Amino acid sequence: MDLQSLVIHGDAAAHDDSGVAPAIHPSSTFRARGAEEFADMVSVPRHARYYARYGNPTVQRAEMLLAQLEAAPAALLLASGMGAVSTTVLAHVRQGDHVVAQSSHYMGTTRLLTDLLARWGVAVSRVDQTDTGAFAAAVRPNTRLILVETPSNPTLAITDLAGVAALARERDITTVADNTFATPVNCRPRDFGIDLVVHSATKYLGGHSDLVAGVVCGEEAAVERIWQDSIVLGACSNAWDAFLLLRGLRTLPLRVERAGATALALARFLEGHPAVARVYYPGLESHPGHALARAQMRGFGGVLAFEPKGGHRAAQQCVSRLQLAANAVSLGGVETLAVHVGSVWEGSLVPEQIEQAGVSPGLVRVAVGLEAAADLVEDFGRALET
Ligand SMILES: *Cc1c(COP(=O)(O)O)cnc(C)c1O
Repeated sequence: MDLQSLVIHGDAAAHDDSGVAPAIHPSSTFRARGAEEFADMVSVPRHARYYARYGNPTVQRAEMLLAQLEAAPAALLLASGMGAVSTTVLAHVRQGDHVVAQSSHYMGTTRLLTDLLARWGVAVSRVDQTDTGAFAAAVRPNTRLILVETPSNPTLAITDLAGVAALARERDITTVADNTFATPVNCRPRDFGIDLVVHSATKYLGGHSDLVAGVVCGEEAAVERIWQDSIVLGACSNAWDAFLLLRGLRTLPLRVERAGATALALARFLEGHPAVARVYYPGLESHPGHALARAQMRGFGGVLAFEPKGGHRAAQQCVSRLQLAANAVSLGGVETLAVHVGSVWEGSLVPEQIEQAGVSPGLVRVAVGLEAAADLVEDFGRALET
């Protein structure tokens, strides 16, 4: 089924509930009608339905739809994107192991790699994600995991998913791809041989800036293992967010396609603007990863970044002068958001970490929403003029 139809019908097909809209099951605990039934309830490995940290019917509905969208047999919904990234990574490593990751990752993932894993005796090599050979060169005998994120946050660099998946498979290393920016509408990493796909469902999957959630999709046995650790780590999702997510997913392809078309129009406008030094958008022919993005993505997504001439100060001024685009972090909602990346990262990372991630002092990230392209072009044009 085409993704557009899957988001409408994939959920209903997986359930015998007659409600056209999904039911919300807020209960934190579930009653058995006797000792035998209770024994049955607790013995189901995953989706055990006797306590909501182990499983919840509304959460399970969202998981079943998300798995289908990522062409995976199973999915686990978690409390946030970082809940999904951290639980997935921690479920795979122990003291003495080694992880290969990119020099540029989402800020929280960067902290997991550079701070938490080091504290637990897990070594991490971070490589230039645009160079598949660099991943191969970084692999050691004790490498357990390769983590990729494409396009990456916030520089929109592209990783060759098939290339990394192939070199990992040869060496029996598990691959994890953060597919938050692309969404399954534009890219399905498992089609290229990636094992596990994680998302911040807070972004495009939810799509309305009103929930926080994360998901990991993969083979049943792998998801089951992550679930076992998730029960202990405790980053479980809940019925309310799962319901909102199911609602948001119904329009995922429509939203992602429109945001992508508008992002391309805005990127072209910014690239031609005399006050702009550089634009980062994989849909532009000038982007170093354009050919690869064209080969492994159906569309280029709704996020772009640019540097106004004048560095740090000019970037802050430009963001302050935007009227339509809100000065806020996050992405994937219906409203356009713009943020001076340095101002966010400086709060959590040291300058060397920021530089290693390729974040220049004047970088502005724009998460394009669903406003008309002409109105956004006018807003950015006005902000850059002054
Ligand atoms: C936002 C984001 C995350 C973290 O997700 P939360 O839901 O905020 O925890 C992880 N990866 C990427 C690429 C993101 O954009």
